[in-house]
Amino acid sequence: MGHSRARLLVLGGGAAGLLAAQTAAARGWRVTLLEANDRVGKKLLATGNGRCNLSNRAALPEAYGPAASGFLLEPDKLLQLMEGLGLATRTDEEGRVYPLCNQASAVLDVLRLGLERENVETVCGFEAVSAAKNGADFCLVARDGRRVTGQRLLLCAGGRAASKANGYALAQALGHRLNPLAPALTYLKTDQSLVKGLQGQRLHGRIRLCRGQAVLAEEEGELLFKEGALSGIAVFDLSRAWAGAKAACELSVDLLPGWDGFRVRGELERRAALFPRSEQLLTGLFPRLVGQRLLDACGLRPQAPAPSQALDRLAALLRDWRFPVTGSGGFDQAQLTLGGVPLDEVEAGSLRSLRCEGLSLAGEMLDLHGPCGGFNLHQAFSTGYLAAAALR
Ligand SMILES: Cc1cc2nc3c(=O)[nH]c(=O)nc-3n(C[C@H](O)[C@H](O)[C@H](O)COP(=O)(O)OP(=O)(O)OC[C@H]3O[C@@H](n4cnc5c(N)ncnc54)[C@H](O)[C@@H]3O)c2cc1C
Repeated sequence: MGHSRARLLVLGGGAAGLLAAQTAAARGWRVTLLEANDRVGKKLLATGNGRCNLSNRAALPEAYGPAASGFLLEPDKLLQLMEGLGLATRTDEEGRVYPLCNQASAVLDVLRLGLERENVETVCGFEAVSAAKNGADFCLVARDGRRVTGQRLLLCAGGRAASKANGYALAQALGHRLNPLAPALTYLKTDQSLVKGLQGQRLHGRIRLCRGQAVLAEEEGELLFKEGALSGIAVFDLSRAWAGAKAACELSVDLLPGWDGFRVRGELERRAALFPRSEQLLTGLFPRLVGQRLLDACGLRPQAPAPSQALDRLAALLRDWRFPVTGSGGFDQAQLTLGGVPLDEVEAGSLRSLRCEGLSLAGEMLDLHGPCGGFNLHQAFSTGYLAAAALR
């Protein structure tokens, strides 16, 4: 059968599916895009705080793990593709790529117009609950009993993070295994008593995920206090390591990264001479509420000068402020689902399933994930494009 007569079913109208559907249609496939929600691309609108951080200059295979080679487009290539679709972009000083107009809707709009231009049939409100292959045809059945058939199937159903539907069971029904799923890129919970009153405070620091004395992962960046939890990009990235650690862990915050113990101690002495009352000791260094909490934790009496032993305790605390991790935001609050279809079950470069002929997989369903900062949309757009371009 010439592929111009064959029908391709693309399941999932997210980042991967939207780019894949129009790429395949432009190459002559008859494409039906199926989406559980009442509209395509809902999650895209929420990405990057409504600005959609769609890629990153550093989105190279090494940022994703040892087996990522062959699964990603070069960042320049993706930006060229997006430009070809009409999207103007800008790159910030940290390498993160955004739409020039700073609106996630611009990304969705050019993708939607691309679907129209290529005559992709889009069916919304279709939540596939089963998938089967009968002879050469794939058949998907929706929750409401509707069925569709096609000769090729591209699964781009995303993950469990912030999504009501997913496609993992469909991949399993077609012969794939799943690596264990876990929520990531989310806040980490801690004892409420340790962060009480600090909600909304932001700090810069080096944050380590520790199990006893062992450091499992570390990141430098913003720390944001929430009700009973620590958040911010550095914590989001550490949540990936926490999901894999499966053990009692603590976050250790170094509030003065790059300073050694002598420098911190010296600075506290200088401040003790400058400010006669302990309560003023951290003035001008940290947000006031955070400073107060640190002083309280060292047992400093607000009106009295700081005794030398208390300065020792404070110096240690500034370099190693500990918070036990008691949980994470879970799938509802997560931006990413770790785990999924193992990469060794799909062919690098083409994203074709090695378990089921005619099937391809792309996006977050695959066990291929990156840090915060545009890496995961880059993965979804890359794999969606590569899968569609390699169909035969
Ligand atoms: C709040 C938030 C902010 C984020 N910000 C960023 C960011 O700025 N930069 C970045 O790189 N990443 C970000 N991410 C992560 C990024 O959104 C995902 O990595 C990316 O969307 C994955 O693309 P995908 O196409 O694989 O899946 P999705 O975009 O999730 O799309 C999958 C689609 O499939 C549909 N679907 C699922 N199951 C079924 C089914 N059974 N039947 C029919 N349809 C189905 C879903 O409804 C969905 O529309 C963010 C995530 C969240 C939640």
